[in-house]
Amino acid sequence: MEFRTLGRTGLEVSKLGFGGSPLGNEFGETDPLEAERAVHCAIDLGINYFDVAPYYGRTLAETRLGTALKGRRDKVILATKCGRYDVAKFDFSAARIRASIDESLARLRTDYLDIFLAHDIEFVSAKQIVEETIPTMRALQNEGKTRFIGITGLQLNMLRKVAEAAPVDVILSYCRYNLLITDLDDLLTPFVQNREIGLMNASPLHMGLLTQNGPPPWHPASPEVKEVARVLVEFFAKSGVRITDLALQFCLQHPTVATTLAGMSTVEQVRENVAAAHAPADATLINEARDFIGPFLNRSWPTGLLENHDAS
Ligand code: NAD
Repeated sequence: MEFRTLGRTGLEVSKLGFGGSPLGNEFGETDPLEAERAVHCAIDLGINYFDVAPYYGRTLAETRLGTALKGRRDKVILATKCGRYDVAKFDFSAARIRASIDESLARLRTDYLDIFLAHDIEFVSAKQIVEETIPTMRALQNEGKTRFIGITGLQLNMLRKVAEAAPVDVILSYCRYNLLITDLDDLLTPFVQNREIGLMNASPLHMGLLTQNGPPPWHPASPEVKEVARVLVEFFAKSGVRITDLALQFCLQHPTVATTLAGMSTVEQVRENVAAAHAPADATLINEARDFIGPFLNRSWPTGLLENHDAS
């Protein structure tokens, strides 16, 4: 496994990271024992970065990951989040963030995090994140509960503006850099490069769109984008190319992203994805896929408060 430095944190993270949301059944029912085996397999194959959140399965993913990491905590770089607790339940207040980290630490069976992230910040005002949430997270860092802090979200301009006003160690972006979309590089990558902020790219499979099983029912992409992805997956499957391999390889080539987070919950997925990460990317196939998507490239969707939308 190749390791990359995560910005100024100095942490050496595996270029392929383990996304923990499937552990909370976000993509359909997950077998808990198989999920535990998947976590162990990932560690054995060199993955050291694990991302989770209280939101995933409404604490279930953290509980399952905590169980799986028993006796293995020192082998991983562990990140969880705060501020989002349900589809429409957000609380980024100082009191909630303080309680949240203690609850997460208990579920994860550890006494410190490596990274603590404010989760989907576009759902509240930038002012609260800058003036209340990030200062509270920095205080928790000083108290030794987390080694580093950061922010996550879909709206890239807001991530940048918040990080300009209140410095963070890392930023996690999702569904803005993969075979279907690359506007991360227009809106955020130059900024993080200048500031040496660690950059994590999540959802290389566009939250299931670029898989044989297709997206979960809640997927927010437009019907047109879902359809073009479905035809693309079928097209490559017919010529014996696994779209997940191609999609991962495209993301893993990114020169600034330290770790690409793929959601996984079975040993087979971990083995396939690690093998894909070791294999060279096929530029011809990648260009073919991007040409095929053509006019449907770079389509996102609005999330959070209107004032925080990239388009506004
Ligand atoms: P993803 O693009 O990684 O896709 C996950 C889906 O792909 C799941 O259904 C999984 O079962 C399937 N999959 C994975 N490997 C496969 C394979 N080899 N073959 C077939 N199917 C395969 O989307 P994601 O899980 O949303 O993103 C990755 C992780 O990033 C999340 O689990 C989470 O930890 C993190 N994330 C964070 C945020 C945020 O902070 N706001 C948002 C999105 C994702």
